[in-house]
Amino acid sequence: MARDYYEVLGVGRDADEAQVKKAFRRLARELHPDVNAHDPDAEAKFKEAAEAYEVLSDGERRRMYDAYGHEGLRTGGYQPDFEGFGSISDLFSAFFGAGGFDAAFGGGRQGRGGAMQGGDVAVAAPIDLADAAHGTRVEVAYDATVLCETCRGNGAEPGTPIVTCPACGGSGQIQRVSRTRFGQLVRTAVCETCGGDGRMAESPCATCGERGMEVRRQRLEVDVPAGISDGQRIRVSGRGHAGERGGPSGDLYVVVRVREDERFLRDAEDLVTVVDVAAPLASLGTTIDVPTLDGPVPVDVPSGTQPGETILLRGRGMPPLGRGRTGDLRVVVNVTIPRRLTSEQRDLLERLADSLTDDNVRSEEGMFAKLKRALAG
Ligand SMILES: [Zn+2]
Ligand SMILES: [Zn+2]
Repeated sequence: MARDYYEVLGVGRDADEAQVKKAFRRLARELHPDVNAHDPDAEAKFKEAAEAYEVLSDGERRRMYDAYGHEGLRTGGYQPDFEGFGSISDLFSAFFGAGGFDAAFGGGRQGRGGAMQGGDVAVAAPIDLADAAHGTRVEVAYDATVLCETCRGNGAEPGTPIVTCPACGGSGQIQRVSRTRFGQLVRTAVCETCGGDGRMAESPCATCGERGMEVRRQRLEVDVPAGISDGQRIRVSGRGHAGERGGPSGDLYVVVRVREDERFLRDAEDLVTVVDVAAPLASLGTTIDVPTLDGPVPVDVPSGTQPGETILLRGRGMPPLGRGRTGDLRVVVNVTIPRRLTSEQRDLLERLADSLTDDNVRSEEGMFAKLKRALAG
């Protein structure tokens, strides 16, 4: 089912030409692969937006659509035709000219003489919580476009010349004309023969097939600072895709994924852990081994410790990413009630139970405080 074109662009039915154009450019900016490398639907969404723009930016088609909807356009002879484009970059070029997205939106990414900055690359780096606490060094592997080693980026077999493109005469653009009921539609598209350069290799480089670029596996060691959180990104300048026509390379973004540690919950810089203490030991007081990021440490549990009470281990949490104080480890005492008693244990407990007085079990907190604590847990 085709979506309503106004809804696709997010404009009202009375939007004027400028508003339609603005809405489309905004969507294009959001959906560009350099910006939105992770959305597998970005290409489909962009095509949908492009189709909506083609219709709503054209007075005749828009009138037809307003009156008869999608069906009216189809019977009127309009067919969106985005299938002939090799990639979403080509599609952007078709709408925004030979410089594609960068020329249309500027944003400082385009240098002189058509030089264009390469795209950014993102790669995930999973690490353990202890590594996040201490800082670590990870090796990441990712695919990036680099200059072809055989032709050094000019796309020609070594020792062969670069010539003017015969298909476009050197302009890098060709006009695509299609006939519809509304008349001739002329769209300027990037020349497919030379890819928009206007010049091409007489004998294309056998390694890269004239692109001047090839995709190669990159390996890189990256320092991960102590205190990093799950999902934070480390930017490595200039290690993304190579630029075109002498433009600078894009950046690499290392997305740090901190693995869950079943012993700890992270609460900003604090860590929370839960330890089991049998009821008689909580009553008598004991020493238990508590897990920390640096291994187990012995911790005193005072006599009379109640279920849910917290013992604070200062400075045993996570370091701050920047400045600040290292967090604490909050040890929640889970008082467990012994089960599956032997007859001897049962005898002992019965004797204990008989000897208990009100003073032994009276709680120091009132009912409201108890309720609050139970609900907060
Ligand atoms: Zn090559
Ligand atoms: Zn050409």
